[in-house]
Formats: sequence, C-alpha cells, structure tokens
Amino acid sequence: MAGSDADPQAAIVCDSALSTALAQFDDAAERLHLAEDIRGVLRASKRELSVNFPVNMDDGSISVFCGYRVQHNIARGPAKGGLRYNPHVSLDEVRALAMWMTWKAAVVNLPFGGAKGGVMVDPRALSAAELEDLTRRYATEISILIGPAEDIPAPDMGTDHQVMAWIMDTISMHRGHTVAGVVTGKPVAVGGTLGRVEATGRGILYVIEELCRQKGIHVEGATVAIQGFGNVGNVAAHLLQRAGAKVVAVSDSSGGVYDGNGLDVDALLECRADSQPLAECAGVDKITNAEVLTLPADFLIPAALEGQITSRNAGDVRARFIIEGANGPTTPEADRLLLEQGVTVVPDILANAGGVIVSYFEWVQDLQFYFWEEDEVNDRLRKVITGAYREVAASAESGGLTMREAAMELGVGRVVEATSLRGIYP
Ligand code: NAD
Repeated sequence: MAGSDADPQAAIVCDSALSTALAQFDDAAERLHLAEDIRGVLRASKRELSVNFPVNMDDGSISVFCGYRVQHNIARGPAKGGLRYNPHVSLDEVRALAMWMTWKAAVVNLPFGGAKGGVMVDPRALSAAELEDLTRRYATEISILIGPAEDIPAPDMGTDHQVMAWIMDTISMHRGHTVAGVVTGKPVAVGGTLGRVEATGRGILYVIEELCRQKGIHVEGATVAIQGFGNVGNVAAHLLQRAGAKVVAVSDSSGGVYDGNGLDVDALLECRADSQPLAECAGVDKITNAEVLTLPADFLIPAALEGQITSRNAGDVRARFIIEGANGPTTPEADRLLLEQGVTVVPDILANAGGVIVSYFEWVQDLQFYFWEEDEVNDRLRKVITGAYREVAASAESGGLTMREAAMELGVGRVVEATSLRGIYP
C-alpha cells in the first residue's frame, strides 16, 4: 500500500499519547477556569467500541484481529477522525487521537466532533486480498457506529484511499444503496474530492507561508527537516521544495537522508515509488532518525508518530520552528524545554488540520452530489487554515501564550460552549 510503512518498532511511544493529550487538556481547562463537572465530561470518550474479528487468510487459516473505534465528543457535529492500521495500536492511543480530533475540528471551526479508529495489524504483512477482507470485516463490525450523520472515518497511518473505497462499498452493500459520505479520503472515482491526498501536506505549506508572512521571513531558501515520508511528510516535502524551500533531510522508518544543499525530493519520491526504503535510495548521505530531529534547520516537521520530541532530545533541537505534521509528536515536558529555548511550536491541532478540512469539503460534496474544481478546494483550504492560524497567533500574542496553549483554549472553549448550549440530556 502506498505511504503505509509505519514502523512497528516505534509503538513504545503509544502509551504516553493519552497522558500527553490529557495533560494538554488539563492545562487548557485550568486556564479556562472550567468547572470540575465539565472537565469530567470532556476528559472521557463518549463511546468506545472494541472488536475482535476473524479473517480468512490466504493459507486457509483464520486469524483474529483486534480493532477499536472511539468517539470522543459529538457536541459540535458528527464524529470525524482517521483509521490507523499498525501492530501497536492500543485503546489508549486511539482515545488520545480521538480527543485531539475534537479540538482540531473546533480550532478550524468545522461542524464535527472527534473520533479515531485502529486495527492492530501490520498491513505490509497481508496480501491485498487479506487486507480487503480485514477491512470489510472491520467496517462491518463498526457499522453500528459509522455513517454520514454519525461518524465519518478517513485515512491515517497504514490506511489509504483504497481502504476507504472498501469501507464505503461495504457500508453501501449493507444499506442497499451507495453511501459515499460514510468515509472521506476516497478515490475521486467513487466520491472522493480533488485535493484530498495532498491536503494535510498542503495545509502545512499554507501554515508555513502565513507564519513567514507574519514573521517577515521567506519560504524561499528556508531550510526544512522532515521526519516521516508518508502521505503527510512526502507531500509537505514536495510542496515546500516547489515553493523554494531547501528540504535538507527526510526520513522514514528505515532511517534518514541528508543534503545540506537541499535534497532532490522528486528523485526520492521516484525511488519510494519502487517501494524502496529511503535509506536505500542512491546519491544521498544517510543519517539516523534521531539526527533528523536535531539538525540545524529553520523548520522541523515531525510527520510520523506520537512522542518523538521528548525531555530526552528537546534540548538538542536546533530548528527555529516546529510544525507538527504528526499528531502528538511533542510531549508536555518537551514543550516546556522548547519554550525556554525560544523554539516556536505550531501545534498538531492547527498545523495538520488540512486533512480534516478537505475531508469536510469531501463530505459536503458527497451530501450534495456536486463536486468542485481542485482550485476551489485548495483556495477554500487556504482560507480556512490561514484564518485559524491568524486567530491562534493573535490570541497567543495578546495573551502571552504558546501557540499550543492558544489553540487549545480556542478549541476546548468552542466545545465547552456547544456542550453548555446543548445541556445535559435528559
Ligand atoms: P503514513 O503511513 O502515510 O506515513 C508514515 C511515515 O512515517 C512513513 O514514511 C513511515 O516510514 C514513517 N515512520 C514510521 N515510523 C517512523 C520513525 N520511527 N521515524 C521516522 N519515520 C517513521 O502516515 P501519514 O498519513 O503520513 O501520517 C503521519 C502522521 O500524520 C500520523 O501521526 C498521523 O496521525 C498524522 N496525520 C495524518 C493525516 C493524513 O491526512 N494522513 C492528517 C493529520 C495528521
């Protein structure tokens, strides 16, 4: 599967994702002076479904897989969030990712709540037929939760547009008619939107362009290091290079590659298209994944996993700006150290929101059976993410807050407002 080579080794970080998400929420709740009872509501997931399901394997055996779908909050609209295939998916990790989706949708003011799903599987270890069977059975298991008005999955690590097409088809077969709006990130031929594949990376470009405009610096010539070369990382690398930035390092789970004069990103993409790990691509210097995070660069974009910048390596970070392409890449302790060092962190719930913004556009188009030109998708994406960036930056500036603190205040505040207006049923 394209862009789905998540590192099985890396899941040691997953257990801390929930503690990071909760610490960030508690911090925002304190600053917003939230009452204990509303804190209790927002700290917990609304619904959590665990499923264990059998799949017929090619060799005639049956394997049982474990998966989850968690809806954190639906106060502002249907639950929305990706679906991860990784051997180290855990319920706590999915809870954290679902909570971040709630705040993210609220920060960019989409009418969605937050959700996430995952299956404990290494998709690279399955044949195409096994992957399809696993996906259709998992979709069936979670069909009691998902739907265009209820909960709309999308791709995340280890899943792609083909997986979304299978989920859409499975739910459509159950309901007896085509239900395009049940997932986003589908192929364009079956109700996907133009611009979705690039949306998260493109959103990162727009965020960096706005940051540069505000700080009076130039994208042209700025140096960039990127951890992760999947859907988010490789699109960000490609678009930033096209905008004139110098991408000096990228990495995947096999390791990193470096060129101080700027890598040829298109050549790396071609090498990757042949399913080559980056570390085996020719003509570039090899570095470790750890080194990518501590290179001198204007921008560091973690775009792989949670918990990558911690108290152990934050002191060594030499980038001026961290743009969080991944969800939860920075721990709260690392945030404190980075602040002391003068590093500005543009948080995940803002920086990587391009994906959910264009997913929202896809859902709107599916509900209307009316599809937009790609320029319209990109223009609207720029407007929404740049507007959110300006709002967060202004609030950080006026309140003496970090960008994460300001974004959390905005997102949590909007969810609290919706929750209060709706009241507690019955
Ligand atoms: P992907 O599966 O397409 O790619 C993941 C990349 O990370 C791969 O290149 C993989 O080799 C690399 N990787 C894995 N372990 C690594 C390690 N230890 N060091 C360096 N690289 C490593 O996934 P993706 O969709 O690009 O998602 C990446 C991150 O972005 C995740 O945190 C995801 O939740 C987040 N995100 C994705 C989207 C989206 O639209 N796909 C949107 C918002 C946030």
